[in-house]
Amino acid sequence: MDNNDWTNVLADSELKEGVPSVVEVEETKVLLVRAEGKIYACGNECSHYHAPLSDGLVVGHVVTCPWHNARFDIRDGGLVAPPGLNGIPSYETKVEGGQVWIRQVGKGTIPMPEGEDDRTFLIVGAGAAGNSAAETLRREGFAGRIVMVTGESYGPYDRTMLSKDLLSGEAPAKWLPLRGQKFYERLNIEVMTDKLVTEVDPSSRRVTFADGNTMKADRILLAPGGSPRTLNLPGADKPGCFRLRSRKDAEAILAALEQAKTVVIVGASFIGLEVACSLRTRKIDVHVVAPEAVPLAAVFGEQIGRRIKKTHEENGVTFHLGQTVKEFAGQDRIGEVLLADGSRLKADCVIVGVGIRPAVEFLESSGLVKEGAVPVNGRLETAAEGVFAAGDIALVPDGRSGELRRVEHWVEAGRQGMHAARCMLGSEDSYREVPFFWSKQYGSSLRYIGYAPKFDQVVFRGDVSDKTFLAGIYVGGTLRAAAGVGRARELIRLGQLLEAGKSVNPDQLKEPGFDLLAL
Ligand SMILES: Cc1cc2nc3c(=O)[nH]c(=O)nc-3n(C[C@H](O)[C@H](O)[C@H](O)COP(=O)(O)OP(=O)(O)OC[C@H]3O[C@@H](n4cnc5c(N)ncnc54)[C@H](O)[C@@H]3O)c2cc1C
Repeated sequence: MDNNDWTNVLADSELKEGVPSVVEVEETKVLLVRAEGKIYACGNECSHYHAPLSDGLVVGHVVTCPWHNARFDIRDGGLVAPPGLNGIPSYETKVEGGQVWIRQVGKGTIPMPEGEDDRTFLIVGAGAAGNSAAETLRREGFAGRIVMVTGESYGPYDRTMLSKDLLSGEAPAKWLPLRGQKFYERLNIEVMTDKLVTEVDPSSRRVTFADGNTMKADRILLAPGGSPRTLNLPGADKPGCFRLRSRKDAEAILAALEQAKTVVIVGASFIGLEVACSLRTRKIDVHVVAPEAVPLAAVFGEQIGRRIKKTHEENGVTFHLGQTVKEFAGQDRIGEVLLADGSRLKADCVIVGVGIRPAVEFLESSGLVKEGAVPVNGRLETAAEGVFAAGDIALVPDGRSGELRRVEHWVEAGRQGMHAARCMLGSEDSYREVPFFWSKQYGSSLRYIGYAPKFDQVVFRGDVSDKTFLAGIYVGGTLRAAAGVGRARELIRLGQLLEAGKSVNPDQLKEPGFDLLAL
C-alpha cells in the first residue's frame, strides 16, 4: 500500500448514497457505503460462513448478511447480532483529490479487557447461547472470571453442521469447533468439559456438579439447550437406533453408516429431513416415516411443504407419511421397523428425530421451571435475581406483543446469549429480536424470519416451484413471518418490518412490481 498505508480505491463520484460498492485491496474484499454523505468501509465477508455482505442489505449503519442474517456496524465493523462471532475488519476513509482512500484500523477481533473485577460469572452450557454470552462479556469489557461448563466432552462447536455437511461427509470434524483453544486462553474464558450440573440453588447462586463439587457465582446464565425426545416403543433401546443432538451422537451415527445400506428416519421435521439429505449424498437408501401428511406444512404451509417433499423424492428419498412406528425389530440390533399399518421396512440403522424437550431436569428443585421451560423477563432474567436463561430452554417475552415464546433456533440462541450477557453486566434493555432460522437441504437454504406457530394465509412472491421465492405468512391479514429461498434482501426487509411492529398487506407482497425494499 502507498501513501502511509492509505489505499486509493475508487473515484468519489462513483460511490452513490445508499448504493454499496465492493473493492479489492490486496486480495481482501472491502465494502464501501456512503450513508448520510459520509463514507464507511468495512470487510465484505461475514464472520459466520464467509458470505459476501454486499449481497445482503445495508440500512442506516447496519449491514445484514444474506445467508444467516448476522449483522455488523459498518462504522466500526462491530458485531451487532450473531450468528457472526467476530466483528469484521474496519477501515478509516478519506476523500482526497476526488478519490476515496481507505486504511485498515480494526480487525474485528475481541480484545481481552484491561482492569480487574473480582466477580465470577458462570455459564451453564457451551452451545450457541452460552458461547455467545461468554464472548459478549469480554467484548463488553468484563474483566472478571468467566467459567463456561458443558456436560459434553467437547467445547463449543457448530451444532447445525452435524446433520448437514458433517453427516454428508462434506465437512471434516475439524471444522466443528466455533473457536480454537487459544482463543479461550487469550480471553481467559475457562471452558470446562465433562462438567455436568446436577442442581442449581438460585437464592445462593450455587450450582452442584455431577462430580460432587459446587461453585458459587455472582451471576449465572442457564443455557443447557434441549434433550432429544425418545420413542417409548418396543425395541427403541436396541443398538442401531440413534438420535442426533450432540457431536458424540453424530460420531456414533457416522460409525454406523460405514456398514449401512438402508436407513429409516423417524420424523420428517428439520433434523429428519436434513439427515435424509445427507444420507442421500452418501448414496444410502433412505426411508422417512412420519405421521403428518405433508412434511413441515405446520411451519411453512402446505405448498412449501409439498415442494420440500418433492425435492426429497427427486433425490431418491422414500416417504411413509401418515404412518407411525409400532416396533423396532431385530435380533441383537435393529434390522427392521414395523409400522402401525403392518408394513415392515428393512433398516441397517434408525435415526429418530422427533423433537426436543428443554434440558431442564437439573433445574427441577430450583423453582425456575414452568411447564417444562424457564420463563424470563425482557432482560432474560429468571424469577431469581442474578440468574439468567437463554436459548432453547428460555420462554422469552416477544419484543412487541409481550407474549411468551420459546424457539429452537441457532441464531436466536446466540442473540439471546449476547443480550443476556449485557444484562448480566447491568443493561436494562429488553430483548427485541425477531426469530430467524434456516435449513439447508440439497444445497439450497430455506430461511424463515418471524414467529407464527399458527397462521391462516401464505402468500407468494414468485412461484413456490421456482428456484427462488418469497412467502409471507399471515394471521388475519397481518404479516407474522416470512420464508423463502433466495430473495435474501426482501426477506431481510420483511424481518425489519416485523421488528418495527409493521406489516405489508398480502396484495402488495404478491405484486412483483411492488418494491418491498422501499418500504
Ligand atoms: C443436528 C442439529 C442441527 C440443527 N440445525 C439448525 C439449523 O440449521 N438452523 C437453526 O436455526 N437451528 C438448528 N438447530 C437448532 C440449534 O442448534 C439450537 O436451537 C441451538 O443449538 C440452541 O442453543 P442453546 O445454546 O440453547 O443449546 P445448545 O446449543 O444445545 O447447547 C447446550 C449446551 O448445554 C450443555 N448442557 C446441557 N445440560 C447441561 C448440564 N446439566 N450441565 C452442563 N452442561 C449442560 C450441553 O452439553 C451444551 O454444551 C439444529 C440442532 C441440531 C441438533
